[in-house]
Amino acid sequence: MYKSYLWILLIAVFSSCTNKQATPPSFYIDKQEEKKIDVLLSKMTIEEKVGQTCQITLDAILQKDESNKLIEPHQIDLKKLDEAINKFKVGSVLNVSNHTFTLNKWNGIVKTIQDVATKSNSAIPIIYGVDAIHGATYIQKSTLFPQEIGLAASWDTSLAKKMGEITAYETRASGVPWNFSPVLDLGRNPIWSRFFETLGEDTYLAKTMGSKIVEGYQGSGSINENHVAACLKHYVGYSVPRTGRDRTPALIPERTMLEYHLPPFYESIKSGALTVMINSGEVNGVPGHANKHLLTDVLKEDWGFAGFAVSDWEDFINLYKVAQTDSTIKDAISTAINAGVDMSMVPNNPQYKTYCKSLIELVKEGRVSKKRLDDAVRRILRVKLRLNLFETPYTNMENYPSFASENYKKSAYMAAAESITLLKNKRALLPANTSSKVMVIGPTANSLNCLNGAWTHTWQGIDPQYNNTENPTIYEAIKKGTKSSDLYQGSIMKMVEGDEADFPSYDLTVAVKNAKNYDFAVVCLGELPSTERPGDIYTLDMAKEQREIVKELSKTGVKIVLVLIEGRPKIISDIEPLADAVIQCYLPGDQGGQVLSDIIFGKINPSGKLPYTYPRHNGVIMHYDHKQSELINANTWKNDFFNPQYEFGFGLSYTNYEYSNLKISKNVFSPLDKTITVSVDVKNTGGKAGKEVVQLYSRDHFASISPPLKKLVRYAKINLDPNEIKTVSFTLDIKELGFYNADNVWVNEPGKHSFFINNLEDSFVITN
Ligand code: BGC
Repeated sequence: MYKSYLWILLIAVFSSCTNKQATPPSFYIDKQEEKKIDVLLSKMTIEEKVGQTCQITLDAILQKDESNKLIEPHQIDLKKLDEAINKFKVGSVLNVSNHTFTLNKWNGIVKTIQDVATKSNSAIPIIYGVDAIHGATYIQKSTLFPQEIGLAASWDTSLAKKMGEITAYETRASGVPWNFSPVLDLGRNPIWSRFFETLGEDTYLAKTMGSKIVEGYQGSGSINENHVAACLKHYVGYSVPRTGRDRTPALIPERTMLEYHLPPFYESIKSGALTVMINSGEVNGVPGHANKHLLTDVLKEDWGFAGFAVSDWEDFINLYKVAQTDSTIKDAISTAINAGVDMSMVPNNPQYKTYCKSLIELVKEGRVSKKRLDDAVRRILRVKLRLNLFETPYTNMENYPSFASENYKKSAYMAAAESITLLKNKRALLPANTSSKVMVIGPTANSLNCLNGAWTHTWQGIDPQYNNTENPTIYEAIKKGTKSSDLYQGSIMKMVEGDEADFPSYDLTVAVKNAKNYDFAVVCLGELPSTERPGDIYTLDMAKEQREIVKELSKTGVKIVLVLIEGRPKIISDIEPLADAVIQCYLPGDQGGQVLSDIIFGKINPSGKLPYTYPRHNGVIMHYDHKQSELINANTWKNDFFNPQYEFGFGLSYTNYEYSNLKISKNVFSPLDKTITVSVDVKNTGGKAGKEVVQLYSRDHFASISPPLKKLVRYAKINLDPNEIKTVSFTLDIKELGFYNADNVWVNEPGKHSFFINNLEDSFVITN
């Protein structure tokens, strides 16, 4: 045994999340740049300015046949392009249709558009944006990382940054300089179809991982040709619709908004994020796109955000059509622009023309002031300049030799390796011997689409035609790694009328009959990729046909490794006790099959930790930061109601860690004390090197707003060799231990507080 060295982690002192205390970022305003913008604005007509605020989808300028179907292979319709840019002065294009293009094709598309834009009267390049949300998802052969929910499970900010850097590089190789990512909405409603796009349920985890993704996308200094502009989504409150269905109403009290939902956005704005996309839903009855308070007062004025805000899909129109807060489309446009949205993702043809015409009228009628229009355009031009699009409107794949390189693949592999989470390992079944005979079964066992999830190659991610098939599925990887393994379907998962439907498979009985021939069965369950409204579901229950596989196999006595390939936690409480091991893979991306096999056979020691509370029951969803009042159980009259399947922050390893010596710098703090330091010793007491996530939680025991029982305030991922001990030390600003009171003011109330790390606890007092 040895004590290696004092491993001190001095975490940058938090600057509070309150909008009132916010210091505007200095990153944006550059006097020279503003002068260039002044010159540009002075030469632009109202029509040109309006056009800059208009974003159309690529489909709007692609060639179509008489029945309005896209002609294959997709080609730009030069007449439509000319009309969009030279007549309507459109400033932005987004997306790809139902195809993932090669790098070469992308380069051609972006160049064709930019050649027209830069030769137009204003000569302003367009800004092209895509959803490259876990790698450059719309470029063939690109490097694909875990979706955000998996990335969050790594609890490793350096991996978040790496994912950002590589995605930015590969996206820029295609000529696209703007990424609609990251999602900073909190994953607190697991049935929500976009849960997998979030960084989990905790504000601190989302804000720290999210701002590192942004740093990776944009670089730390000025943005060069290897970087892209980030777009923080979806400002704000989108992820907690009351019913769990996409784009439906949310109710969020002001103090909850301030304490939970805004900080991840604020943190990334502080890191210099250049753009923000607006919440398609409504909060407290006010649609995101009409919320002047959040858009203008908070984001732009209090926080000093100097980039631009883009609407989500058709959401100007939706103020009239869906939210019905405006009685005409023209009124809706006026509401959104006046609330502070700077660019409208209209995005179709001919709707975009109506948008441009209406906004021109609104400006001429004085309903949208010239000042507001100029402000929106200034922000858009600022980002275009910051991306250097005037000098480099497009890029060339030749300058990106690292695209899809082995090194990049390794980073994606590492990200998956550090995120996949071992949730159960009865009698140390895992790691298994490679000489084992393995049954691989279940509807997600042999599918790259299931590993990648939605927004991969296509919007819903279920088309297999662009898969990077040199990457193995789970079955292929296990087959390669073991002496003998066989694949069974177990059950079948299909899209039927837009919803996942599960069916029994004839081969389950065969599998059951053969079970005795195997050392263990890897049962791969989960869900088909989906997102947004197509991903709405009625229940979190894991499909009955899938659970049946575990139930039937368990009767044979074969050992079961339950593998979950899912973007949201499906309820497994009836089959979990039948499994010997459980592994949560989330949506691990292209490398997931290989990584899972390497975990099963011990090449990787798992270190992922759940970024959310895995519910045991469908109805009651509680989070780790619940309150005392939520614990009372009238069956037992004990405080034991919180009984999730697995807790937030939980994850096993093939080694063991022992925590000791929790120390707080003092036990009494006065308002004159600024910081507080807490340290702990962590020892690897097992026989394998491993990585552990040291999690620091705080508790304010009594407060005027009934306090949560714990709140994550710091974490650090460390490496430990067998018998190694490290001392991990965290420093916090005492202010961080406060909360928003009933007047929506951040306060520190005096009284007893505690820190928890693993099984250790120590208390201290903050005095008046
Ligand atoms: C989604 C956004 C996405 C946009 C562009 C919308 O429907 O809500 O997250 O960035 O489409 O694809």
